Amino acid sequence: MKVLVANLGSTSFKYRLFDMSDERQLGRGGIDRIGEDADSNCFVEIDGKRTDRQQRIADHAAAVQMCLDQLTDPDTGCLDSVDEVKAIGFKAVFAGKLSGIRIVDDALLNAMESLADVAPAHNPPYARAMRQLRKAFPSIPLVAALETAFHETIPVEYRTYAVPYEWAEQYEIRRWGFHGASHRFIGTRMAQLLGKDDAKVISCHLGGSSSLCGMLGGKSQSTSMGMTPQSGLPQNNRVGDFDPFALRLLKRLSGKDYDTLLDELSSKSGLFGLSGVSNDARDIEEAAASGNAQAEFALKVLAADIKKYIGQLLAILNGADAIVFTGGIGENSSLIRRMALSNMDFAGIVLDPEKNETVRGEVTLHAANSRVQIWTVPTNEEIVVARQTVEALS
Ligand code: ADP
Repeated sequence: MKVLVANLGSTSFKYRLFDMSDERQLGRGGIDRIGEDADSNCFVEIDGKRTDRQQRIADHAAAVQMCLDQLTDPDTGCLDSVDEVKAIGFKAVFAGKLSGIRIVDDALLNAMESLADVAPAHNPPYARAMRQLRKAFPSIPLVAALETAFHETIPVEYRTYAVPYEWAEQYEIRRWGFHGASHRFIGTRMAQLLGKDDAKVISCHLGGSSSLCGMLGGKSQSTSMGMTPQSGLPQNNRVGDFDPFALRLLKRLSGKDYDTLLDELSSKSGLFGLSGVSNDARDIEEAAASGNAQAEFALKVLAADIKKYIGQLLAILNGADAIVFTGGIGENSSLIRRMALSNMDFAGIVLDPEKNETVRGEVTLHAANSRVQIWTVPTNEEIVVARQTVEALS
């Protein structure tokens, strides 16, 4: 069965095509500048060979049409016909109680739209694109794998806010947790790498959006993100954990209304707000290396928060077999890993400084005397979504 996995941004569409008989990736591609007043770059890569086209792409339905055209191109494609694509799977973010793996239907789309204010960067582009695709490709089933599903195993005491008891029931106010596909992938992969089904693993997904998750036997026990993807660690331009009562003071002192302040907390805060340089960790590291004190400070805050959550998860799991770094920052930033894991020998966590600087990919980074293994493992959220899509259809 061939499954297309879609990763949507408000003006972008990235995809991978899998043959699920052996989980082989047949192709991948991406289209940017969707709906903009400019040509989109539409690329497809099959067997390491890349083909590019430039064309105006009006919306996500047109983007998927372009993707299918490229995949079925008689010279450069890998499909004989569009009919071979049996489903499109989405790493959807948030639909409250409608969690799990679901065929995209009106109920799901309505739930995602009604929660747009909770996941403003994610829900609106997904819901809009899914509606377009349902109309344009009625014969291809669309499947949503909700990010929150993986965290359903978190014990109730770790997912509850101390708000009036009925709020959780009535308004779904609770720690939902996100990055489910990535943490699930790390949990499954680490069971194989450690040769242990009941492993205690702390997965550190650090990227544009970041969260930590403590897993026992591949099941989520606690995670750093709470009700919304704005919570937990500082994100690229989102605040991370924040005391809601500071808003009252901010409103009075700045003269801004709540909506403006919330917009700023979700778009001008996080690494961007702290560093004043960029929302991209590479730029911030470069600025810090050339003496920008504010950039250095932003990295310090991020690393300190990672350390804080590792401590929390170690306590919840009663120790760990492995700490795993993944995502763009987790896999690549030796600096953040070094800062976050400094002075943790009390817990048996000792990084090998040379390995940390030099090795890449699916490798260990711990010193010989470290009781806890330290790994980088490139995540593969798409294969998780493809597996779940097959599961949903069967
Ligand atoms: P997303 O969460 O959007 O999928 P990624 O997982 O690709 O993002 O992570 C993007 C982040 O990873 C950016 O902040 C980028 O700067 C950071 N990153 C990528 N490569 C490096 C590197 N070599 N050193 C430090 N940070 C890096």
